[in-house]
Amino acid sequence: MALAVYPGSFDPVTNGHLNIIRRAVKLFDQVIVAVAYNVRKKGLFSVQERLEMLEFVTRDIPGVEVDSFQGLLVNYMQKRQATVVLRGLRAISDFEYEFQMAHMNNYLAADIETVFMMTGAEEFYISSNIVKEVASLDGDVSGLVPGVVEEYLRRKNKK
Ligand code: ADP
Repeated sequence: MALAVYPGSFDPVTNGHLNIIRRAVKLFDQVIVAVAYNVRKKGLFSVQERLEMLEFVTRDIPGVEVDSFQGLLVNYMQKRQATVVLRGLRAISDFEYEFQMAHMNNYLAADIETVFMMTGAEEFYISSNIVKEVASLDGDVSGLVPGVVEEYLRRKNKK
């Protein structure tokens, strides 16, 4: 069975992530969207909140599981018996970091392959960071994130 893990911060999930997920389920039997606990990156949303949003927006997409992991991705992959890491590529600026991570993961676990999917034509400029920034300044992000995420952002910014 072709099982792919799509790891990331998803702080919060955007239409860019969703575009990748929707296309990926056509290629893999199962896609595990895995939120990474990152000690160095304190997010706007807790991992619990990110999982809630992801569960909600992927509930109608068959073949998707939402999970979280701590520590090394390769250890999580081994635990889940998955060998494919799925990542999205937006701009050239993504490339250097992704290139390094893909090789590092392959060095740590030789049977792990990273598969890249090119961003959607409508979503190439969307990042969680820019969405958070615009939302915090009261800008309209309705075309960039699912409705439920807009609602979570509104609540967070009211606090
Ligand atoms: P990370 O902090 O691990 O980069 P992100 O949540 O920012 O986590 O992104 C997870 C993955 O989704 C990364 O591979 C990233 O390149 C990809 N991604 C993010 N935004 C988009 C987008 N708009 N289009 C395609 N891929 C995207």
